[in-house]
Amino acid sequence: MAFPLHGEDSARPTPPTPLPDPYWVGFSPTCAELLGIPLSTAGLPIDQRWLDLLAGNSLETESYRFDSPLATAYSGHQFGIWAGQLGDGRAILLGDVADQELQLKGSGKTIYSRMGDGRAVLRSSIREFLGSEAMHYLGIPTSRALSVVGSKQSVIRETVETAAVCARVAPSFIRIGHFEHHASTQNIHHLQNLAHYLIGHHFADINNSEAPYLDLFKAIAIKNAQLVAQWQSVGFCHGVLNTDNISVLGLTIDYGPFGFLDEFRINHICNHSDHAGRYAYHRQPQIMHWNMACLASAMLPLLELTHSTADAQAMLTKALEEFPLTYAHTWQSLFRKKLGLQMQIEGDIVLIERLLQLLHDSQVDYTSFFRALGKIKRADLATNIKLCQLFSNTSEIEQWFEDYLERLRKEISSDEARLKLMNQVNPKYILRNYLAQKAIELAQKDDFSEVQKLQMILSKPFEEQPEYEAYASPPPKHLEAVEVSCSS
Ligand code: AMP
Ligand code: MG
Repeated sequence: MAFPLHGEDSARPTPPTPLPDPYWVGFSPTCAELLGIPLSTAGLPIDQRWLDLLAGNSLETESYRFDSPLATAYSGHQFGIWAGQLGDGRAILLGDVADQELQLKGSGKTIYSRMGDGRAVLRSSIREFLGSEAMHYLGIPTSRALSVVGSKQSVIRETVETAAVCARVAPSFIRIGHFEHHASTQNIHHLQNLAHYLIGHHFADINNSEAPYLDLFKAIAIKNAQLVAQWQSVGFCHGVLNTDNISVLGLTIDYGPFGFLDEFRINHICNHSDHAGRYAYHRQPQIMHWNMACLASAMLPLLELTHSTADAQAMLTKALEEFPLTYAHTWQSLFRKKLGLQMQIEGDIVLIERLLQLLHDSQVDYTSFFRALGKIKRADLATNIKLCQLFSNTSEIEQWFEDYLERLRKEISSDEARLKLMNQVNPKYILRNYLAQKAIELAQKDDFSEVQKLQMILSKPFEEQPEYEAYASPPPKHLEAVEVSCSS
């Protein structure tokens, strides 16, 4: 069962709108493997009906038939303000394949489309495809992307672009917004069904809990606290952390104007439409906490079934207080690893924070710096002198390196062992905006080779790939500011 609720106020049967003359733009063989789709040697489905299915032109392949495609209702807070009902305005849930939900994004209008056309453009579909697959290979919980299918059909945004459909895959696409929706319509039965469905299908640990609703809330909050710490550690900025874009499974979903940090700027805003910087890099943890408070209010009626309002509020408030602790714990553990610190010694966190401040002050490329840091040898100053040159404040960074080397001397592992560990957490290759942009511009001229190449390079982000050294480079100066907005 792909979605627990049916009926007017929770989901509507909605067939995809056909997409004329579709063709493959991108395909993920490993995501196909997850779904058990047999592939040809070219890495595409042997059963050619998949192309039509993933374009939204048919609802069956040799092995699958999706009888009840759905668009679901959710509501949410957008940029901190209650936006009321939203829903799958351009996403259609086809159904389950191998315990994963298969969803088409950009597959035409639904009852929730409001003023939108139900479509997605090639540009944003490629970004979602590459972005989510890259996150998967970085080891960060995320929806996956099976394919992008393109067409010559025009779509009007700021300019005329062409349509594409991205097929997304996740164990569930349920969002905080689904809870908020049923809380706002005061439909306690739907709230209960949603909670029981999640517990039964995705939170097995809570199955026998004596306080299932509270425990469900805690589990969702923990997963999202851990997720946002992982984002911070690789420099991922989501861009639109509205409550309707937050997965209850703690997955990164709804890739829009996201971006990875190039130069480290703590207050970097990746979404050109986010004028106030609500979703800036350094605010992501606090915003996720805020989003969990929205979930807590939406779940309050569930706790009120067995407790007084005051007690229910007190329990949720206490559970909410765990969020910053889980976040801090995960963040510290991830950043220790980034610096190659296996032991826990007092002063480590100050050392990490001093480094981040210096990276920010000198706007040093985040990914390249951490990758290079692994090469430091305790007895050889040449590498760290080279790294110091990336910073404008020489005396402070020299002092930092001195302290860092002294700290490293307390570790028992060798330089080589530390390098190996650091290379497992500090990626060499990330989806930099300028790389995605180059792939998009070629794809807009019907050349999809760069999409494939990036997909392949980003599937091994922690490995050295000498032939693709250039793809690890920070953006050339003239390409630094690729602007990404909500338009998609
Ligand atoms: P997003 O900012 O992409 O998370 O979208 C916010 C809401 O707007 C969701 O309910 C989407 O389904 C809806 N939406 C975004 N773009 C479109 C579109 N082109 N057509 C219909 N609905 C859309
Ligand atoms: Mg969304």
